[in-house]
Formats: sequence, C-alpha cells, structure tokens
Amino acid sequence: MPSIKENISLKSLNTFGIGANARYFTEISSENEAQTLIKDDFRNYSKYLVLGGGSNVLFTDDFSGLVIHQGIKGKKIVEEDEERCLIKVGAGEDWPFFVDYCVDRDWGGIENLALIPGQVGASPVQNIGAYGREVKDVIESVEAIELKSGEKKVFSNKECRFGYRDSVFKNELKDRYLITAVNFLFYKNADFHLDYGSIRDTLRQMDIDKITYKTVAEAVKQIRRKKLPDIEETGSAGSFFKNPVVDENFFEKLRNGNSNMPFFKMDSGYKIPAGWLIDQCGWKGYLEGHYGVYPYQALVLVNYGGATGKEIADLAWRIRDDVEKYFGIRLQPEVTVI
Ligand SMILES: Cc1cc2nc3c(=O)[nH]c(=O)nc-3n(C[C@H](O)[C@H](O)[C@H](O)COP(=O)(O)OP(=O)(O)OC[C@H]3O[C@@H](n4cnc5c(N)ncnc54)[C@H](O)[C@@H]3O)c2cc1C
Repeated sequence: MPSIKENISLKSLNTFGIGANARYFTEISSENEAQTLIKDDFRNYSKYLVLGGGSNVLFTDDFSGLVIHQGIKGKKIVEEDEERCLIKVGAGEDWPFFVDYCVDRDWGGIENLALIPGQVGASPVQNIGAYGREVKDVIESVEAIELKSGEKKVFSNKECRFGYRDSVFKNELKDRYLITAVNFLFYKNADFHLDYGSIRDTLRQMDIDKITYKTVAEAVKQIRRKKLPDIEETGSAGSFFKNPVVDENFFEKLRNGNSNMPFFKMDSGYKIPAGWLIDQCGWKGYLEGHYGVYPYQALVLVNYGGATGKEIADLAWRIRDDVEKYFGIRLQPEVTVI
C-alpha cells in the first residue's frame, strides 16, 4: 500500500502557489496501489481529493481529508497502422510533454493544445480546449477506479458526456472516480485548425517551408507565452471563469448596448469572451497588494506571491458580482475552488 503522510504542504503542488496543507497525503503509481488503498484504508478518511498538476484548483483552506496525488505513468501503443494510432497513456503523465511526444511522431489532433499545464488524467475532467480544439475529439475512452468500491470502469467517449470545459467528471461523478489512464485515437492525416486566434499569422512569421503538427504546436506555444503568465514565476490557474454561452434573444439585447462586443456563434447559442466582460467592468490589471487580475488577460487571476486562496476567491466573487450587475450574466468558475 502507498505510504500516507500527514500535514503536507501543497504549495508547490498547485500553480496558484497557495500555501494550503493536506491533513493526509499519498501518491499512487499504479492501479493496484489505488485499489489496495481504497480497500484497506479508505474508511479512515472523511473526504478525498485527487490532485494532478494542481493547475486548475484554488485552495481556500487546508484540506482536512486525504489528497491522492496521481503518479501513474506510462504510454502504450495499443494499435497502429498507416492511418491511425490508438495509445493508452497513464493519468500521471505530463500533458505538455505528451503533446510534444505526439507532434514529434507526426500524429495530429492535439497540437493546438500545446503548453496547457497539468496531467493527462485531468484532460478529460474539464475537456481541455484551446485555439478551437478540444481534447474530446481524440479521446477514445477513459479508464477510472471508483473511489468508494475500488471497481474499475472504462468510460466510452459518449459516457464522458463532454461539453464546453465540462464532462461527467466535473458534474454527477465529481470526486467519485480516480482516472488512471486515457486512451487516445490519433489520425496521422488529421486536418489542421489554423483559423483561431493568430495561429496562421504566427506560422507566417516563423518562416517555415511546410506546416506540420509540430510547427503548429510551436506557433501555439509562442502565442501562449506572450498572452499568459509563466507559472514558474507568477501564480495562476489560467482562465478563472468559463466563457458564458447565451441564447439568441439575450445576445441581441446585449449587442444593442455593446456593438463592439466580441462573440463566437455556436450550435447552442453565442459564446461571449468572459475576459471582455471583466475588462469592461474595469478589472483588467487590478492589483490588491500581492494579487490581482493579469494586465494582459482579464480572465486570469494572479498571485504575485503570498496571497491566500480566500483573498483570490473573494476577488473572483467581486468580479463575478460586477459582471452580473452590469451585463446580467453570472459567470461560472472554470477553476475548482476547494
Ligand atoms: C497558465 C495556465 C493556462 C491554462 N490554459 C488552459 C487552456 O488553454 N485550456 C484549458 O482547458 N485549461 C487551461 N488551464 C487549466 C488547466 O491547465 C487544465 O484544466 C488541466 O487539465 C488541469 O490539469 P491538472 O493535472 O493540473 O489538474 P488539477 O488542477 O490537479 O485538477 C483539476 C480537477 O481535476 C480533478 N482531477 C485531476 N486529475 C484527476 C484524475 N486523475 N482523476 C480524477 N480527477 C482528477 C481534480 O480533482 C480537480 O477537480 C490553464 C492553466 C494555467 C495555469
């Protein structure tokens, strides 16, 4: 059974850099270890939290239960032919390294998701997405262990019920399963998606002979480095809120008073950039001591060092209230607030 440690600092295990402690802490490195832990030891803890790279969580207090740090590694090609590759990847693998691994082999599908921090196992939880692509498009299935029973279940892509920054693991099954592996299906001649943000312009400036999955990933990395804080230097969890999606009637009303409002037409309505709404309320670049709103992207809250999770959460809720007051839209957090 994996060893259980007590009173462990989580400061280096969350990208906000919040100094919270876990009452109990363990790291698992195999499915068997997880199952043994659940069978032999789980009744001793009041609650559990699975922690990956800690890049989408905000700790507002110490965690009084057991934190299970995901450390299951490994990649195994299950099937491969000239057109496709099905690969099983351990949940504890690093996502940005995995993207590099794929583009180096010329497998298409996740090049637009380069440099998103975190682990492979968390990628289905909020169906990570960027630059017009979402991970759901390449997930074949998700392997997980039920935390209550220790039983293994394989979720098909459909059973994951993926949505915009959403899945069954963020809703009905929140904190009920430990994802142990993700099975990805890549196509070797997948289409490029270059029309979102400034990917095409960046590729042009890179002066390359041929567009490949690797050059697209490189372009995405360049854009992200300019727009987002470096988590090695500044605490953050990326976008704090989801971009709201509104119906046509509401959208038309909003557009009447805000003709310059950016939007994306979707099947389910109109997506409005939450960063724009926050910026309009005057929050961009706001600084309160050692934390605030990132000056180059209003959707990102930042900890310049020493902020508590409560301070950052309070700031987030003040921003949410302002946006609701001015636009009648209640923003939903993308970050898991604990
Ligand atoms: C600078 C920055 C930029 C970002 N940009 C993007 C972006 O462009 N697009 C995007 O979608 N996200 C983005 N994010 C958010 C974040 O990177 C992703 O959500 C990522 O998938 C989180 O991975 P993690 O391993 O750090 O998860 P954690 O933060 O550790 O966990 C997040 C949630 O998933 C659960 N979880 C984690 N691992 C497992 C598991 N194995 N089994 C069950 N539950 C699990 C946790 O309990 C928690 O509820 C960004 C974050 C930062 C800091």
